[in-house]
Amino acid sequence: MSAADSGGREPNGRPAEVLAHAEAARGFMPVDEGQALFRRASVVAVDGPFLEVGSYCGRSTCFLGAAAEVRGRLLFAVDHHRGSEENQVGWEWHEPDLVDPVLERIDTLPAFRRTIHDAGLEDTVVAVVGDSPAVAAAWATPLALLFIDGGHGVEPAHRDYEGWVPHLAFGGTLLIHDVFEDPADGGRPPYEIWRRAVDSGAFAEVDAVGSLRVLCRTGPGN
Ligand code: SAH
Ligand code: MG
Repeated sequence: MSAADSGGREPNGRPAEVLAHAEAARGFMPVDEGQALFRRASVVAVDGPFLEVGSYCGRSTCFLGAAAEVRGRLLFAVDHHRGSEENQVGWEWHEPDLVDPVLERIDTLPAFRRTIHDAGLEDTVVAVVGDSPAVAAAWATPLALLFIDGGHGVEPAHRDYEGWVPHLAFGGTLLIHDVFEDPADGGRPPYEIWRRAVDSGAFAEVDAVGSLRVLCRTGPGN
């Protein structure tokens, strides 16, 4: 993280401690992109809680949680903890030790809880265990920050976009992970929803770090 980006100071004290837990946590968030999550979440300009879609074992949750704690915000972490398509048996991102031996289904909730506990974030992070579109449909609180990193199939990604973006406050920050402009680098749906946001006219592009895209909601969109 550059000194300029962090307001002239490297994080120290609690944020640095939480970021160390984030870097050690299990999951799919590269460190430079996680640090960008922390930086952007640290400077949100509007009131309201933060919400993450797709927590897995809590790695990105800790990067965002470090900032939520500093800003005095709650971070809702939405995940059914049964894994995405690509986490299931036989797929590229399957981790066998995350399978509940009785149910023979993935269960990332125990690892997630341990991560959040160890990072000291239990007062900041609220786990919402359920299907993202169902939670979005019942949601009412305007969000200061929305991070989308849930299911990466066509339907899951577009449903997350359609379900959650209306809850982002004007002036709020939208972060989308796994956006690959070159199809050779990865799947298309996160790229497609990022394009939807840009093409809607309701967002200004703020930053790009690796596959992380950062946008600011400037209007009602379409
Ligand atoms: N942000 C994480 C990685 C997320 S992986 C990290 O930093 O490591 C994607 C997650 O999305 C998985 O844990 C999966 O269970 C969750 N997910 C996929 N589809 C979902 C849905 N419809 N509702 C809730 N969670 C979902
Ligand atoms: Mg991701």
